[in-house]
Amino acid sequence: MAGLNEMEAEQDKSVFGQIAEYNHEKLVFCHDQDTGLKAIIAIHNTVLGPAIGGARMWSYASEAEALEDVLRLSRGMTYKAAISGLNLGGGKAVIIGDAQKDKNEALLRKFGRFVKNLNGAYITAEDVGMTTKDMEYIRMETEHVVGLPEAMGGGGDPSPVAAYGTYMGMKAAAKKAYGSDSLQGKKVAVQGVGQAGGFLVELLAKENAQVYVTDIYEDRLREVASKYKAKVVGMEEVYDLDVNIYAPCGLGGTINDHTVGRLKCDIVAGSANNQLRNDHEHGAALAERNILYAPDFLINAGGLINVYSELIGYNRERAYAQTEKIYSYTLDIFDLAEQESINTQAAATRMAEKRIQSISKVRSTY
Ligand code: NAD
Repeated sequence: MAGLNEMEAEQDKSVFGQIAEYNHEKLVFCHDQDTGLKAIIAIHNTVLGPAIGGARMWSYASEAEALEDVLRLSRGMTYKAAISGLNLGGGKAVIIGDAQKDKNEALLRKFGRFVKNLNGAYITAEDVGMTTKDMEYIRMETEHVVGLPEAMGGGGDPSPVAAYGTYMGMKAAAKKAYGSDSLQGKKVAVQGVGQAGGFLVELLAKENAQVYVTDIYEDRLREVASKYKAKVVGMEEVYDLDVNIYAPCGLGGTINDHTVGRLKCDIVAGSANNQLRNDHEHGAALAERNILYAPDFLINAGGLINVYSELIGYNRERAYAQTEKIYSYTLDIFDLAEQESINTQAAATRMAEKRIQSISKVRSTY
């Protein structure tokens, strides 16, 4: 018979155990035999507004991994919207499968039906493995989708705006670490040169930073490297590089027990969501190693700001202007961390939670 500790550990891994840990409102498991759709939609918190967050399509090693991803990503969306001053809650969806092989119109439209059934409590958008074209298919079944092409009244691909915000956060971190926000000559390692990473490399190249790149997809890696004269490095080598800035722009969790001790950079600033495998442990580990961490949900909010603009009447200039403010917000978080003697991840989380708490009281009367 399992001992009490084992039973408790087992309970923590249960679906409700995990929902309780992250404090989610709702989880929807979507299944369709005909299209092969297997997806999970997670609604984390809707105090500030409807839950918004992209749909990610990925070949997860297990269903447990997909579940953990959607729970952590949706919580990150709650914090991202809150810290950016948007009236949105946090949600996310994962579609289990290989985006290059398993994605088709029927599967995407079926996913759209599940989104429709939530009646606006969840608004979907693009994430890893999805494109603007895919959003068009989802739109055929539900109006609760953003990231639509400009021709359809949307804001188009949010990636350039996401990359711009990340770049602003990176510059703020440089200002804090070096006294100047110039990235000229700075060595920056970009891990993952997909949509957001690719645009970030473009901005860095324009400022004459020395850029190092790595990616799983060899063709894309070569294309970006030759276009922007970046140096290609290995997928593992990226953690050991002697660089100023490490920019995680692939999937989350790359700052973990195996990598954190290897980093030689002064700054971590990238577009990926959930870069810290464990917020508390790895946020603290970076601070102990004197590495300045620009919290991911703060600096990668440009994509969300862009799709939010779509909900209230799309205006590209306004979206960019709001995204630019990430520079000063990031400096504010660094100041707060210093004043409170906490790490920067904890400071950003505190700031986001404070807004949610204060607004929840505003809505306590009908
Ligand atoms: P994408 O699918 O276009 O690109 C991701 C790239 O990262 C792929 O080319 C993939 O091969 C690579 N990759 C994944 N893990 C890797 C690893 N360990 N080492 C090297 N390469 C790796 O996705 P994207 O839209 O560019 O998003 C990238 C990250 O930024 C994601 O975490 C996403 O959630 C986040 N993000 C994106 C946006 C946006 O608007 N695109 C906005 C906010 C946050």
